[in-house]
Amino acid sequence: MPEFCDVALAVPLDMVFTYRVGEIAPVVGGRVLVPFRQQRLTGIALEVHDRKPSVTTKNILRVLDATPVLDEQLLRLGRWIADYYLAPLGEVFRTMLPLGAEFKRTIAYRITKEGRMALHLAGMSGSPARSHRTPDEEAVEFRVLDYLAAEEPEQGEVPAVSEQTLRSTTHAAKSILSGMVRKKWIVREDVSTVRDAIPKIRIALLKSAEGKLNDNQQRLIETLAASGGRVPVDTLQSLDVPRTTLATLVKRGLVEIVEEPAAFAVSHSKPRPSPFEFEFNPAQRSALNRLQEAVYARKFSGILFHGITGSGKTAVYLAGMRAVLDAGRSAILLVPEIGLTPAVAADLHQIFGEEVAILHSALSDKERAQQWHRIKSGEARMVVGTRSAVFAPVRDLALIIVDEEHDSSYKQEETPRYHARDIAVMRAKMANAVVVLGSATPSLESYFNATKNKYALVELLDRVEQRPLPEVEIVDMRLEFQETGREQVISRKLAAEIQERLDRKEQVMVLLNRRGYSPVVLCRACGETLQCRNCAIALTHHKREHKMICHYCGYLAPVPKACVHCGSEYVYFLGTGSEKLEDLLHGMFPQARIARLDRDTVRGHEDFERTLNALDAGELDLLVGTQMIAKGHDIHGVTLVGVVGADSALGLPDFRAAERTFQLLTQVAGRAGRGQTPGKVVLQTYFENHYAVQYAARHDFAGFYEKELRFRSWMQYPPYSALANVLIRSGKLDEALQWSGTLGKWFDQNRHEGVRVLGPAAAPILRLKRDYRYHFVLKSPSREKLNTTLRAMMAHAATQKIPRTQVIVDVDALWLM
Ligand code: ADP
Ligand code: ZN
Ligand code: ZN
Repeated sequence: MPEFCDVALAVPLDMVFTYRVGEIAPVVGGRVLVPFRQQRLTGIALEVHDRKPSVTTKNILRVLDATPVLDEQLLRLGRWIADYYLAPLGEVFRTMLPLGAEFKRTIAYRITKEGRMALHLAGMSGSPARSHRTPDEEAVEFRVLDYLAAEEPEQGEVPAVSEQTLRSTTHAAKSILSGMVRKKWIVREDVSTVRDAIPKIRIALLKSAEGKLNDNQQRLIETLAASGGRVPVDTLQSLDVPRTTLATLVKRGLVEIVEEPAAFAVSHSKPRPSPFEFEFNPAQRSALNRLQEAVYARKFSGILFHGITGSGKTAVYLAGMRAVLDAGRSAILLVPEIGLTPAVAADLHQIFGEEVAILHSALSDKERAQQWHRIKSGEARMVVGTRSAVFAPVRDLALIIVDEEHDSSYKQEETPRYHARDIAVMRAKMANAVVVLGSATPSLESYFNATKNKYALVELLDRVEQRPLPEVEIVDMRLEFQETGREQVISRKLAAEIQERLDRKEQVMVLLNRRGYSPVVLCRACGETLQCRNCAIALTHHKREHKMICHYCGYLAPVPKACVHCGSEYVYFLGTGSEKLEDLLHGMFPQARIARLDRDTVRGHEDFERTLNALDAGELDLLVGTQMIAKGHDIHGVTLVGVVGADSALGLPDFRAAERTFQLLTQVAGRAGRGQTPGKVVLQTYFENHYAVQYAARHDFAGFYEKELRFRSWMQYPPYSALANVLIRSGKLDEALQWSGTLGKWFDQNRHEGVRVLGPAAAPILRLKRDYRYHFVLKSPSREKLNTTLRAMMAHAATQKIPRTQVIVDVDALWLM
């Protein structure tokens, strides 16, 4: 049997670690428990071999899996990610596996021969051997020995007793136990185990609603039907009907009860029309055909679905997945963070029944692990989830769909800094599967790839049922200021349009992409603003919470009555956030029923869904919110969308600012006029002539794309180059500067052919969460050259003793802030 095993550990070091194999050989791709410095860590076994390393090796403590948790393809994918994003392999694997919750660390003790001897001698002489111990300590030691010796042997061996049990029964301090270990009376063992019990819950399934029903039975059936035909039994029993009612319905075969892992709670909102109740239009049909042909070919292909808002993309995705399921294969649908509401989950259950696993951010670690097992075992072959669902261990992967592929929530902003869309493409390649990237506003990168024939382009350029896109009217806020003589939040035009909708009992959404009440507090006497203590960021005033809050680190401060710098009372609260906008609208339209959606009012998916449901049900007239209101949903009563300051990003030093603004404006405009009545958008802006605003107003993706692409080409930005942001950070300003200087000098002295290095420069946000930050931006037409340079830089940083965690390499960075 091979003697050694290489293990990937989730530590910030770019290497694997070699351990000696014990009695049980690890499986490649399975987890092992190993000692590392003072700790015990779980890692992934990568290779067993006989190459003796030059350093002394420690033993593997335990083999945790009998079968791989990462199959060959996922191991390969992990290696590719580590390489592409310059991330430690073990940290990549940790991200890929949601199994942290399964591992229970336990230390246990067992009595030795020497221990028995000591106990025996003590019993004979009545007093133990002389020592430096106090009588109390001795008494405890013998209690421990007694307790351990009394365990019944199992198969000739006395079982070990967990530290917790031992200490609670004998009241032995940790130091006493360590002393006994040193004397070899007892041995300490790590008996950490993998928890594998998957708690299940009972679900009632509606089978049929036929036949005569009494009132109670009727109520149960209706509740079931209203929730897509499946409800946890617990929920039904909290209804005010006798418990026997359910049993009767089961006996009659109208309801079936199944056990399944506690999954995403199913929505109790009103039933939604099935996604397949309508007939597909020709564009949808042809898109579905393209998708299916690609899947049947059983080789890699990429398809970019460019479908305008309301063109019916979702129905095509779901039909494509259904076809994959019918063929006995697997599919993954990735959705942006906010898209996965309980209502969507209910839809998915309705279509895919028990075969769908839903991975959303509100799951606990344990629930996530349960879903992972359902997928791994082949029980669930349809996977829907946010970013990390791209790693779902499905069998026979046929299709990955990335909905709203331009969405920035697909990028992980911590190590490994992967982009799930790009991982989806690579995974599909490795699996000979099909990847579909869908959006009304594709990223420049994806659209560029489509024009270069890396992906097939499928377009859905009309809304379903020939509904028109909304008319967009631009309001120049500089003119508004000149004409009214004061800074307006809501222009006269927008106010009039809102009033008109309210009179007609139609609904309105108003976007302001900034939360809080006032974003700046300024002292008129000394000119200072109130800044976060940890960040170079102005604190935002939140009126309802009566606090000043940092939106970057969460720091809280009291609302100042006087300037904290000079004591002057002339402190002014400037600017408008969504909270203030809501107040203003209440003042202007006192009769209107108004709600707000932003991160202050939405704590979980339920809040988000509740508010949208209320809007859908006509219980609200006006919805105010941040970009959260721009995404994905389909509410037919909204006929007016007002945009109040969504263009402030255009002033930021970020080459993606125009793209992001265009996407946001197009997406929010897409919320108007999705029902029978055509919609309208009033777009207030200070950048009237900016092309992002102009093209968004004309719904002209192609025009925007051409123009933006030209800029990217002149400036050598993606997609014309591969780009990485290298951030140097330290809590000490001197250290951050010195390290930046060291790396800057290294970049200067070493030629990096084909790689442009900008910097070091202060990061746009110089201080964040107490760290001072400097950065370099690297660009190259060749990704290989870029990564070679980055790797050499990391090696140099290591020789200069710059800690690995203080140099952040962000490959394909979305933000340069
Ligand atoms: P997108 O994701 O492209 O914005 P959706 O898939 O959300 O669009 O579809 C918009 C709305 O149109 C949904 O309510 C959907 O049920 C409906 N829909 C989709 N296809 C059709 C069709 N062929 N006929 C009628 N309605 C449709
Ligand atoms: Zn002041
Ligand atoms: Zn802060």
